[in-house]
Amino acid sequence: MMSTLEYDHIIVGAGSAGCVIAGRLATRTSARVLLVEAGDPGGRRPVNDLLHVRGNRIDFNSWAAAGNEGWSYADVLPLFRRMESFAGGESAYRGDHGPLSVLYREPLSELAERFFAAGSEAGLADQGRDFDYNARQQEETSFRYQVIQASQNPRVGAEYLRLALGHPNLTVRSRARAIRILIENGRAVGVELLQDGIRVPVRATQEVVVCGGAYGSAQLLMLSGIGPAGPLGEHGIDVVADLSGVGRNLQDQLILGVTYSSSDQNGLTPMVAEVGCFRRTSRRSGAQAPDLQIQSGSGTFLAPLYDRPGPGYTFAPVLAQPSSIGSITLASADPLIPARIQPNHLDADQDLDVLVEGIELSRELAHTSAYSAHLVEELTPGRDVRSRAELENYVRANARTLRRTVGTCAMGVGEDAVVDPHLRVRGVAGLRVADASIMPTVVAGDPHAAAVMIGERAADLIEFAHRSFTIRAHRTAPARLTLT
Ligand SMILES: Cc1cc2nc3c(=O)[nH]c(=O)nc-3n(C[C@H](O)[C@H](O)[C@H](O)COP(=O)(O)OP(=O)(O)OC[C@H]3O[C@@H](n4cnc5c(N)ncnc54)[C@H](O)[C@@H]3O)c2cc1C
Repeated sequence: MMSTLEYDHIIVGAGSAGCVIAGRLATRTSARVLLVEAGDPGGRRPVNDLLHVRGNRIDFNSWAAAGNEGWSYADVLPLFRRMESFAGGESAYRGDHGPLSVLYREPLSELAERFFAAGSEAGLADQGRDFDYNARQQEETSFRYQVIQASQNPRVGAEYLRLALGHPNLTVRSRARAIRILIENGRAVGVELLQDGIRVPVRATQEVVVCGGAYGSAQLLMLSGIGPAGPLGEHGIDVVADLSGVGRNLQDQLILGVTYSSSDQNGLTPMVAEVGCFRRTSRRSGAQAPDLQIQSGSGTFLAPLYDRPGPGYTFAPVLAQPSSIGSITLASADPLIPARIQPNHLDADQDLDVLVEGIELSRELAHTSAYSAHLVEELTPGRDVRSRAELENYVRANARTLRRTVGTCAMGVGEDAVVDPHLRVRGVAGLRVADASIMPTVVAGDPHAAAVMIGERAADLIEFAHRSFTIRAHRTAPARLTLT
């Protein structure tokens, strides 16, 4: 008879957060760690450089103010510092000993230089080419983007796994999908894997940590009986924990292109995120994080493709803090059938307002003296799109998801919360969720950095619990007598 596989910790999902947790636990403890990934060993490769934006300090302070102790900006700053090696050097805000190499975009193209001059004309501060939006201040200033280069980053999170290479306590299984969390007497005791068409139970002596991302984590919880009781019952799934918040609170950032052709052949770099800014629209006060991000570069972003030859440039407004809330529900109890995604994009009028203001700011930038000498034509939305109704129609037809989805297993202290501030799933022992799905609200910025930070925090929490568990186990072990 085949014996059941057993580990101390099982991490589900080798994405941005999951790799951090597996790598840190394997290097800092002697725990037996299994990392399972549904995808290939090459896994999810970034197509372009990853924009590195931590989010606004107000984001984290608002998480803490909602009762999430340990998640204020002051709490998470050391985690952000320890994950990076920043080309700009170490400071009170930045780290230079971490696994992720963070660089400024360079060299800066001539066209990008114009953005700084245009920004000044449009009321943005110009604090120099080395202005660091991941430090003291993020908003109302033009900046060049910081990135994690794709060439140095063959797999999202791979740097963390490289740290753990050679540690025999880490096992990685790719093309292995967790289809169910095994739960006995209210405690997660392992997962059922599907690999090469075979179902394999794997036991965890201590914890199961779900890091499947905003879609994968919510789906796996629901398949395992953790979620809203009514819909789970309709799929014939026995309810283990009736948590109405699972799959709710889906938040997604949208982007669209305000695109120009130009007579300037200089400084072309086929990208739309070389430089940018964060701004509060007229709906926001200084106590709130900025809700508008602008990305800009000399690529011409005509949705759905970057497809126009010849010189030009784009200002791409991004809905940084969406008010529209979507959901994920099970389409079937069959784990191989994708969950149903209801994004509800642009449901909230505020989101339309933000993107319309984004178009207006983009046009203001484009018509500053910095750009206007070379401007030939507005390609999108096009100069005939002027009235409020026309702009709204343009937004509705052209805004695209950036696939920065978060929030479906939100952390909190209320009835809607899926995990508590220690990332423990409410009502099930031995089970945590740790990835972008736990963000109560999306950060103002691109969420990869925050997902890695969540992985760092989870690794600390799990390590602490692991050490307490090990001490307890030693204390309760029968004393050995040595006979002489
Ligand atoms: C094309 C693209 C470009 C992006 N660019 C940027 C950017 O420039 N900057 C930025 O900040 N963010 C960017 N993002 C967003 C960023 O990648 C995510 O916010 C971040 O990776 C979320 O991390 P996570 O750990 O929550 O989930 P993920 O990184 O998505 O990891 C989840 C992993 O779990 C696996 N999984 C899911 N379910 C199971 C299961 N049942 N069993 C086993 N494995 C499972 C998945 O295959 C996946 O590998 C981009 C996203 C996409 C899609």
